[in-house]
Amino acid sequence: SNLFPTGWTGFNERGFIAVKPDGVQRRLVGEIIQRFEKKGFQLVGMKLVQASEDLLREHYRDLRDKPFFKGLVRYMSSGPIVAMVWQGLDVVKMSRRVLGETNPANSLPGTIRGDYCVEVGRNVIHGSDSVESAQREISLWFRPDELECWEDSSAQWIYE
Ligand code: UDP
Ligand code: MG
Repeated sequence: SNLFPTGWTGFNERGFIAVKPDGVQRRLVGEIIQRFEKKGFQLVGMKLVQASEDLLREHYRDLRDKPFFKGLVRYMSSGPIVAMVWQGLDVVKMSRRVLGETNPANSLPGTIRGDYCVEVGRNVIHGSDSVESAQREISLWFRPDELECWEDSSAQWIYE
């Protein structure tokens, strides 16, 4: 799609991150944004949305046959989510490291899931698992005009 012209990899890679309903309720939005900002990534899109079950079923389509799918869709639609697009070098892979493991019990302290949650079904944050899923998820949650392309004045202090 025209959201991802050739060259939207490397420094321009984009990842989809969402603070889940439990993260919003537990006032973790600021903390989570701060971790991505301080890391050096660039925020290019953000909105607070209460997602429909249809959107969530599409978002998690690869998991539709899992026993936890129904509960997952109910959990994710139970309150507003903060959907974000972050940009930067290797942002998808690096974000997964910032998040920690899917199950908070396996997540190291210092990761978001390691620091702020206990159970896999209340793990406060979503992050795309590959560049391909990031592109699919960004197109699902954002219109092209909701993403801002802005010059990063600190880029020279983040990238050599
Ligand atoms: N999930 C769950 N039970 C499981 C595995 C996953 O409730 O046994 C939920 C959990 O909230 C997880 C989401 O389903 O974040 C998506 O699962 P996935 O395997 O894609 O993990 P993620 O990519 O979020 O780490
Ligand atoms: Mg996943």
